[in-house]
Amino acid sequence: MSEQKNKKDKEKMKQKIYMTVTVAIIIIGLIILAAYLIMDNQNAEENKLTYTELIEKIDDGVVEKIEMTVGSTTVKVKLKDVEKEKQTIVPSTQAFIELVQEKKLEGNMIDLNQNPEGILKTIGSGLFSILPTLLLLALIILMFKMQGLGDKGKVYDSETTNSKITFDDVAGLDEEKHEMMEIVDFLKNPKRFYEMGAKIPRGVLLCGQPGTGKTLIAKAIAGQANVPFISMSGSEFIEMFAGLGASRVRKLFEKAKKISPCIIFIDEIDAIGSRRTSGSGAETENNQTLNQLLVEMDGFDTEETIIVLAATNRPEMLDKALLRPGRFDRRITIALPDLRGREAILKIHAKEKKFSSEVDLKSIAEDTAGFTGADLANILNEAAIIATINDHDVITNKDIEDAVKKVTVGLEKQSRVVSEKDKKLTAYHEAGHAIVSSQLETQKDIKEVSIIPRGVAGGYTMYRTNEDKYYISKTEMQEKLVALLGGRAAEKIVLNDISTGASNDIEVATDIAKNMITKYGMSETLGPISINTEQDPYELQLLGEKFGDAIGAEVKILLDNAYVRAQTLIHENREKLDRVAQALIKKEVISAEEFQELIK
Ligand code: ADP
Ligand code: ZN
Repeated sequence: MSEQKNKKDKEKMKQKIYMTVTVAIIIIGLIILAAYLIMDNQNAEENKLTYTELIEKIDDGVVEKIEMTVGSTTVKVKLKDVEKEKQTIVPSTQAFIELVQEKKLEGNMIDLNQNPEGILKTIGSGLFSILPTLLLLALIILMFKMQGLGDKGKVYDSETTNSKITFDDVAGLDEEKHEMMEIVDFLKNPKRFYEMGAKIPRGVLLCGQPGTGKTLIAKAIAGQANVPFISMSGSEFIEMFAGLGASRVRKLFEKAKKISPCIIFIDEIDAIGSRRTSGSGAETENNQTLNQLLVEMDGFDTEETIIVLAATNRPEMLDKALLRPGRFDRRITIALPDLRGREAILKIHAKEKKFSSEVDLKSIAEDTAGFTGADLANILNEAAIIATINDHDVITNKDIEDAVKKVTVGLEKQSRVVSEKDKKLTAYHEAGHAIVSSQLETQKDIKEVSIIPRGVAGGYTMYRTNEDKYYISKTEMQEKLVALLGGRAAEKIVLNDISTGASNDIEVATDIAKNMITKYGMSETLGPISINTEQDPYELQLLGEKFGDAIGAEVKILLDNAYVRAQTLIHENREKLDRVAQALIKKEVISAEEFQELIK
């Protein structure tokens, strides 16, 4: 997403290539070695003479000459009418010499070779035999290097940038920016704050979904205060050898102290800062890393003007120790952008692009509720790409619409061949969603129905979301369940069979039903109660077994009722369903207007 991540990716690519080349060289080395050994072995086979054979030959008087090398039990034997020298391994040189003397062979027959060439040869073959070990050693060293050991030039994957990004580059988030202004002032002029005795937060936790701009705002603080920005990601710590995570954290802070005032940004802090457990292996390693982080946060001198920003989407997962005063004691939650926010983000990212005059960023903003800043940036970028491919001079509305679709449901998989049977099933499934929705007051705003496969989905029914909602009513949730089960209901009634195509619908429906009962207190019998077994696994036990059963029963009732209602609506609107499904089979995509026409 961000520029920095791109850089990191490139760095990783480089490392990968480097690694691949080295591994290739090592493998080739090993192959050559193996080939040499095999050949050598074959030669040796041919030229071998066993000790007993040698004794026999000596007895037969066919040995012309024996050559021995000091310190080696291998002797070279020249037989009388054989061109090539043979080799024999003797059990003991001393005993062999005595034996040969005993046999009263002529004195010049044994040639004791003491020249340096022979010794060099011995050393050479010795070296050759440890070559595999050397290669293995090289491989291990390489692996350590890949892990960042011994790589002194680089500061352990952390990146320092002098950020040119300022608050002007961050759209919306006015309140958040306002809160951050204090930190900017502090970084610019820490003395003033110290003299006043003011306490400035050392650690700020930025909470929010990926792509909501946490990295962006951290960079903007650095840019605004004109101080360096050092960053690293928590996930980089987990794949490491024991103790490396902790040492990296130490190095990171050492570096920060050298260049202070500065910002340290730790992305995905949950990767190291998850609750400590008394586990072993990877967990213990994480504990060491986390402990080091805690030590560093506590060890700041008053002189050091360093602010640590950390990002996470799961603040509830973090070890409580991280959140204590003096550590990450300030929390800023970055929500998904609202309508105005989305428009502002689109405006920022539209700056360097050319649009046709018909393009209305506001209406794009209206259609993209629930999108993150990164999604919106992505849409405009995709739109520019699509416009280029289509040879448009400027980006048109159609380009943007296509980009929205692409970003929303993944690329059209045109190459995927869909069988007629699958097509019919998908058509009825999607028509089922659409028809059922059209009969429900809160669900009827259908924007598009399609059976073109995109991403993992076989088809989709798109709803118009032109309103930022903060509250959803019980009726709306119930009707959502009915709409979700409309696909399955149509399959059952029309084809008298059901498919796996509805699995995601059912999953989503079950989640909603569960939340209605255990989170929003929407059950008549159980009343307003919130149960979060993820946070406290014993909560249900406290409430009693019967209570747990009651929850299950309530969830089931919600889902069953919704399914029955969906089937009733399908039955009542069977003709319309057929019309829509047939149209889908023929055209694959139908717009809102076409849909309204079909169900008139
Ligand atoms: P996070 O760190 O929360 O995952 P990023 O900061 O990496 O998200 O955001 C990714 C990209 O999305 C940014 O580089 C920027 O282009 C865009 N973006 C996100 N939020 C905003 C915003 N409020 N204003 C402008 N651009 C944004
Ligand atoms: Zn469905």
